[in-house]
Amino acid sequence: MIQYPNIQDARIQPLNDFDVRFDADYVLYWMQQAQRAEYNHALEFAVQQANDLGLGVVVVLGLTDDYPEANLRHYTFLLEGLTETRTLLAKRGIKMAVRRGSPPDVALELGQNAAMIVCDCGYLKHQRIWRDQVARKADCRVVQVESDVIVPLAVVSKKAEYAARTIRPKIQKHLDDYLIELKPIKVQNSTVNISLDGLDLKRPADILAGMQIDRKVIAVSQFYTGGTSRAKKLFDDFIRSRLTRYQRNHNQPQTDDISHMSMYLHFGQISPLYLALQIKKADRPMEPAKDAFLEELIVRRELAANFVYYNTQYDSYQCLPDWARRTLSEHRKDRRTYTYSRRKLENAKTHDPYWNAAMEEMKYTGFMHNYMRMYWGKKILEWSSSPEAAFRTTLEINNKYFLDGRDSNSYAGVAWIYGMHDRAWPERAIYGKIRCMMASGLERKCDIQGYVDKVKTYVRKAEYTM
Ligand SMILES: Cc1cc2nc3c(=O)[nH]c(=O)nc-3n(C[C@H](O)[C@H](O)[C@H](O)COP(=O)(O)OP(=O)(O)OC[C@H]3O[C@@H](n4cnc5c(N)ncnc54)[C@H](O)[C@@H]3O)c2cc1C
Repeated sequence: MIQYPNIQDARIQPLNDFDVRFDADYVLYWMQQAQRAEYNHALEFAVQQANDLGLGVVVVLGLTDDYPEANLRHYTFLLEGLTETRTLLAKRGIKMAVRRGSPPDVALELGQNAAMIVCDCGYLKHQRIWRDQVARKADCRVVQVESDVIVPLAVVSKKAEYAARTIRPKIQKHLDDYLIELKPIKVQNSTVNISLDGLDLKRPADILAGMQIDRKVIAVSQFYTGGTSRAKKLFDDFIRSRLTRYQRNHNQPQTDDISHMSMYLHFGQISPLYLALQIKKADRPMEPAKDAFLEELIVRRELAANFVYYNTQYDSYQCLPDWARRTLSEHRKDRRTYTYSRRKLENAKTHDPYWNAAMEEMKYTGFMHNYMRMYWGKKILEWSSSPEAAFRTTLEINNKYFLDGRDSNSYAGVAWIYGMHDRAWPERAIYGKIRCMMASGLERKCDIQGYVDKVKTYVRKAEYTM
């Protein structure tokens, strides 16, 4: 263990003017976004501060029944991850309590005995509002530490970027400073024996049973189980067996040559920094595959974070660029050969077997291959009565079924369907100048029947285990 980790100054931002309180019992790390015990700059910062003050660290997470758009599927994955995180923290001498309640209230409650409150940094509106509430109401120092991206957003750019091509060089020029190891700091004062009320994470089923949440979207643990060790194992397998084929196959949905890290990243159970460093360290000579993966993990993912951070309308049709809304509006009266109700869509009952397979993958497993997400979204635009209604439907279904839904990537991905971060294409019916995708394109470019067959095996597995 080294004494101090690499926590770059730009990651650290005081959220209020209060001083550290000296008659305190611990440093509080209010965990919401980065739900992990390693490669977590906020956690290491809290440990460092606590050591300096002669205190220990307590971690708290507020589990609310009202988390925007969350359902049983999401809560199950979250609790699977938290159970492991709490155990790993205890091994480091850090007590973690998970408490029912609104996250800022829970943070403020335990913050009453804290020298300072350290928080991590999600970029969505409600997360920012929660942090503002804590910063305003706490009577100790509140410090935010950004650990969800490789390069802090404000270092990269002070505005919403147009596209991957504009943000790429701005990220790349800082990678040497930010793509660096983060070692755990030794905890000098353990808190594991202090007594704190919290939920019994050994009984996740009881916790879930006691919550007022939407249970219609069921858990998918037979496909994806939450937790840092599960994520690391999946990622090791990916590097060992499939990374070499990533560049060639990441647009081939019949294959599995992708990482499946998105849900672990979404819940903060794995760090993007850890993933990027593992890729860089991989010893086989496969630079194009590594570069292709890092392009998605860093450039595309951090473009999405930039989008939700600087475009406050990210969750509504109004977020789209003017040219995109204009062209879609000019084509709003175009004849639609097919229109489907939300129910038909969710039940995968369209005329298109490829689209239906994608919808089933999403519904039964909580995941969908990126190439099919693109096709899936484009067809909702084509089959809806208006682009505004299509946008709403796409986003709602996305966030309802995907384990990685409700993420910066969800908003950027859905907005991309409608022209965000893209350019104008030759004009055609309904789409106007928005890029379109056709079933014949899938047939030409990949083994789409292989994908349909793959999804059938998922559906059989899901039905068998239900
Ligand atoms: C309509 C639509 C909706 C989407 N909804 C979501 C969503 O709800 N949640 C979500 O996390 N992603 C979403 N994406 C982005 C992308 O499809 C997923 O991140 C990716 O498919 C996840 O699979 P993976 O982890 O195996 O990715 P890999 O190909 O292994 O890539 C590694 C990581 O890079 C990042 N990444 C990959 N592709 C993209 C991309 N196009 N944009 C931004 N980051 C990317 C992800 O964090 C991913 O985990 C959406 C894309 C589209 C077109």
